[in-house]
Amino acid sequence: MKMINTSEQILDVEKIRQDFPILQREINGKPLVYFDNAATSQTPKAVIDCIVDYYENKNANIHRGVHSLSQIATDAYENARETVRKHFNAKSANEIILTAGTTHSINLVANGYSHFLKSGDEILVSAMEHHSNIVPWQMLCNKTGATLKVIPMLNNGELDLQVFDDLLSERTKMVFVNHVSNALGTINPIEEIINKSHKVGAKVLVDGAQAAPHLKADVQALDVDFYTVSAHKICGPTGVGMLYGKEELLNELPPYQGGGEMIAEVSFEKTTYAGLPHKFEAGTPNISGGIAFGAALDYMNAIGFDKIADYEMQLLVYATKALEEIEGVRIYGAKPEKKTAVLSFNIEGIHPYDIGTLLDKMGVAVRTGHHCAQPIMSFYKIPGTVRASFSFYNTISEIDVFISALKKAKSMLS
Ligand SMILES: *Cc1c(COP(=O)(O)O)cnc(C)c1O
Repeated sequence: MKMINTSEQILDVEKIRQDFPILQREINGKPLVYFDNAATSQTPKAVIDCIVDYYENKNANIHRGVHSLSQIATDAYENARETVRKHFNAKSANEIILTAGTTHSINLVANGYSHFLKSGDEILVSAMEHHSNIVPWQMLCNKTGATLKVIPMLNNGELDLQVFDDLLSERTKMVFVNHVSNALGTINPIEEIINKSHKVGAKVLVDGAQAAPHLKADVQALDVDFYTVSAHKICGPTGVGMLYGKEELLNELPPYQGGGEMIAEVSFEKTTYAGLPHKFEAGTPNISGGIAFGAALDYMNAIGFDKIADYEMQLLVYATKALEEIEGVRIYGAKPEKKTAVLSFNIEGIHPYDIGTLLDKMGVAVRTGHHCAQPIMSFYKIPGTVRASFSFYNTISEIDVFISALKKAKSMLS
């Protein structure tokens, strides 16, 4: 077993791993090697405890009751919103809408803009989006008559910014791009995309679901109009996330869903809506999930995003080198320095699904398939890839296990 030189040891990974109960379990009789972090991250004890504590000590509906328990639950929920605000450096908590996750956040914005767009308007979406950042915009175009145009990608897994420049015009109303591609790990130059889009008056939504586990986005510094995140990719629970929107833009958007919580006054003649952020939070939310989202950010910030990024880069560089030494391997996407800790690859002549199945038998969890990004797979003319995605709780020795399991799978399949 190879170890990183202690002078390079950025994190106390063995200690961190003790925080994650699931990392102690076995799969198919082998210690779990969890390399499917881009699909969902594992959950530390602090976050699990936070959910248990909510149901044991705080459970009540929020923003409604005069009773103390309701106030305790409301305070915990609103404190979590403040933690999220601080993490992404939004100006105001009014700009943080707690949603069911990235998909919900994007649909909320798409629905809102269906009231403003018209035939002749254009919206640009990148070729390397997750389906959840493609389909809502297609639906929006169908509803409004606006045209969807695609910012193409290059063979190296980066966006073609020259074509992007050509596509931008005064007809461009909105631009959608992910901060980091979930299928390839590419870190997109969103500052440049945002600046150029603003010059023609277009609004920009950045899907940050895959960036959030690896880097800390500052929405004010980016001057981004909308930014979305899912808690379950950053050590939080599933079914909760964030929509950040500039306050003036959120004020303009009509509500997405009607119901309780989002109203000021209701009569059968007329309903007036609550102010931000509640206007977009109809119904009883995922209260424990929202509170645990805050706890997850606290957990990751205590470790530190700079350390996380440096450590994950070591894992990525090590794994890339080991993978490249295997004959017949093709890695898709950018070089390590231009991406997060994702390796999307194929082995010549072998279907990714077969590799994934054999790796699983050896305890190694990777994702195979199109990763909800079929346009990328069509671009490379492949059915899918094997995707190994690393997190700060993974280790060099797990990569060694993965590489030897991969070699074994290859020899069984070829
Ligand atoms: C995971 C992911 C999504 C979807 O997130 P949900 O939590 O399923 O809504 C969208 N975009 C990217 C880039 C993702 O990685």
